[in-house]
Amino acid sequence: MSAAAAPLTVLGAVLDGEIAGVRCEGGRIAAIGPEVAAAPGDETLDAGGAPLVAALVNGHTHAAMTLFRGSGGDLPLMPWLRERIWPVEARLEDEDVYWGARLACAEMTRTGTARFWDMYWRPEATARAVADAGLTATIGAPLFDRDGDAGALRETALRSLDRLAALGPAISPALAPHSIYMVSEESLRWIAELSAEREVPVQIHLSETEREVEKCVAAHGDRPARYLDRLGLLGGHTVLSHGVWLDRDELELIAERGCTVVANPVANMKLAVGGFLDYPAARAAGVAVGLGTDGAGSNDSLDLLADLKAFTLTQKHAAGDPTAIAAGEAWEIATGARAPLLRGSPPGADVPAPLAVGAPADFLLLRRGAPELAIGDLASDLVYAASGSVVETTVVGGRVLMRDGLVPGEKEIVARAAERARRLGL
Ligand SMILES: [Zn+2]
Repeated sequence: MSAAAAPLTVLGAVLDGEIAGVRCEGGRIAAIGPEVAAAPGDETLDAGGAPLVAALVNGHTHAAMTLFRGSGGDLPLMPWLRERIWPVEARLEDEDVYWGARLACAEMTRTGTARFWDMYWRPEATARAVADAGLTATIGAPLFDRDGDAGALRETALRSLDRLAALGPAISPALAPHSIYMVSEESLRWIAELSAEREVPVQIHLSETEREVEKCVAAHGDRPARYLDRLGLLGGHTVLSHGVWLDRDELELIAERGCTVVANPVANMKLAVGGFLDYPAARAAGVAVGLGTDGAGSNDSLDLLADLKAFTLTQKHAAGDPTAIAAGEAWEIATGARAPLLRGSPPGADVPAPLAVGAPADFLLLRRGAPELAIGDLASDLVYAASGSVVETTVVGGRVLMRDGLVPGEKEIVARAAERARRLGL
């Protein structure tokens, strides 16, 4: 699906309460609003009065971990990793990752996600799955040098950047050091330099558990964000996932450096890490915030709308304040409107908002007559009442990936992924 999409015009949708259309050309929105008309030769789609909203951006996941869904999910983190995940990951083949990622892409298409940020083994297989599914993703090979092998880390990083860059416009390559406890100081400095030199983003798990913070302070004399800053890793290209234990001082530093932080509330609860990103403090500091599911091994769903409800409720609950975050603001977080880097925009660029002319043509038509959306404010209904099942049609880069609830090829994808999971003994 790498060829450019033919122009697509959607007519008869409901946008901000009025009947409107959207015309997509070259993967971007060329026109949107009540006056839109199809040009001769356009593919046209009659929305029949369905509400039109921006598609979602999943800021942190490990797509192929759909293969691990429902396996050992009630174990504590370390036994789960040691007994269920690592021995199986050692046997992964490209086709396992490909079909696991295709399964993830089918689920994301179904639940309204157009773009995601991924870190997983055999990243070229994930990239191939993303391109075949028609989604877009920023992908990095996970980088580790816990065993002191900085040379192997460098080789993996350079090789994967080159290979991912060759896979077409749907894929943006990234550097993905796993975490500050799995990558050495020397390698983190090298990654910071490479990221600046090649202008590629960096995604890293940060401050997920309290233990990680304690160990960082003991080993480096600084909390995690200060430590990363010292190594040159905090910048406009950096995405920090989790941020559960970031304090106010760290959040201010992160905002100053222009980093993005991705909250993963459901994975945080499933692994019982004891808290959540302090969103009101992040907002007050001016941090760009996005939302992620984390992998299906530790969530286990990739339905970002379901996680949006969890994000909003956990923030209200933690703050002891029902006004801590409003539905419209939460919706902007899920669509990447408050974190332009997550939508694939270079730092500092003048980026069109989702659904504006010039923005990627990524949008959804919601199920007409859905009971969850029938009454009340749409943003509020989407955040508190709906799940991904209200998505009826998904358009990514001006291409229709799901129409009227049908994802082409889904039956085969489900069967092949299940077959690969069986092969792995999952
Ligand atoms: Zn993760």
